[in-house]
Amino acid sequence: MIDLRSDTVTRPTPPMRQAMMEAPVGDDVFAEDPSINALENYGAALFGMEAALYCPSGTMTNQIALKVHTQPGQEIIAHELSHILNYEGGGAAFHSGCQGRTVSGPQGQMKADPVAAAIQNPEDIHAAPSRLVVAENTTNKGGGACYEMADLAAIQDVCQAHGLAFHLDGARLWNALIAKNQDPIAYGHLFDSISLCLSKGLGAPVGSLLLGSKGFIREARRVRKRFGGGMRQAGMLAAAAQYALENHRERLREDHEKAQQLRQALETCNWVARVEPVETNIVIFYLKADKEAAAFSAHLREAQILHTQMGQGKLRFVTHLDVSKADIDQVCQVLQKL
Ligand SMILES: *Cc1c(COP(=O)(O)O)cnc(C)c1O
Repeated sequence: MIDLRSDTVTRPTPPMRQAMMEAPVGDDVFAEDPSINALENYGAALFGMEAALYCPSGTMTNQIALKVHTQPGQEIIAHELSHILNYEGGGAAFHSGCQGRTVSGPQGQMKADPVAAAIQNPEDIHAAPSRLVVAENTTNKGGGACYEMADLAAIQDVCQAHGLAFHLDGARLWNALIAKNQDPIAYGHLFDSISLCLSKGLGAPVGSLLLGSKGFIREARRVRKRFGGGMRQAGMLAAAAQYALENHRERLREDHEKAQQLRQALETCNWVARVEPVETNIVIFYLKADKEAAAFSAHLREAQILHTQMGQGKLRFVTHLDVSKADIDQVCQVLQKL
């Protein structure tokens, strides 16, 4: 099978497994796992932030951030397509007692003006006080699009002017850093907290990092325990992530090239009406009105190719570590013969 459903399907490579085998471990709830401590220090330093916390998933790092930044009854501002409001099981309401206020914009991205317009008047007793703005980079449902730094800086200005916290859902920030040739330190200056997935394009089996100030991470550690995310000798997992950070960031370029190759093949495919712009490793496309998504899936499945249906007519391919150039060539041939 050529699995283009998601970049989460990767399996640890042999050298990554070796690093896991050799990892020194301890009890991380006592902050005594050397591999986790090393990963947290490495991640925080990379972004010039004070501290970091290793967690089981990106949903947990996002939800911990919401919990630490907010009080029940407050409002979170995010894009209408955001992962944090669409794909985390209603966690904002469930864990934090907060409601979301959505902002629109092309490709899952927000601009400063609509964010400013979404902020509630703090004097209005009818309104849920705005507390936090969440940006997603790259955007997932927005097709892997990357923000311009200037747009993020403008949103940061709005947050600061209104005393709101600014969180980055950077599940695929690694892809943006490579695609836009950006400096992680600049992100450390923009955001109060950053969530980073290690188990997507980087190819680690498990885990995400939450970055922030020392005080923020101290509180996040308490919330992680409360959420049941305190792990013990998880250094073997952290060692895989450390290996990925040191060895798999640059190669994301190859995933982006493969995505461009898929985009080109889709643009000439008889079944496809439109392909969204491709900046990183996600390719979102739509079928022509007379073509059935189920029939398209069946044709691909017959050719041993898997993709995702995202609703609203969106179909998705995602490139990653475990699809080779030869696999992509084969997918392109199949698409062109359809
Ligand atoms: C994958 C993802 C997450 C977190 O996902 P987990 O599967 O919980 O690790 C968060 N935000 C975005 C944008 C994502 O794509």
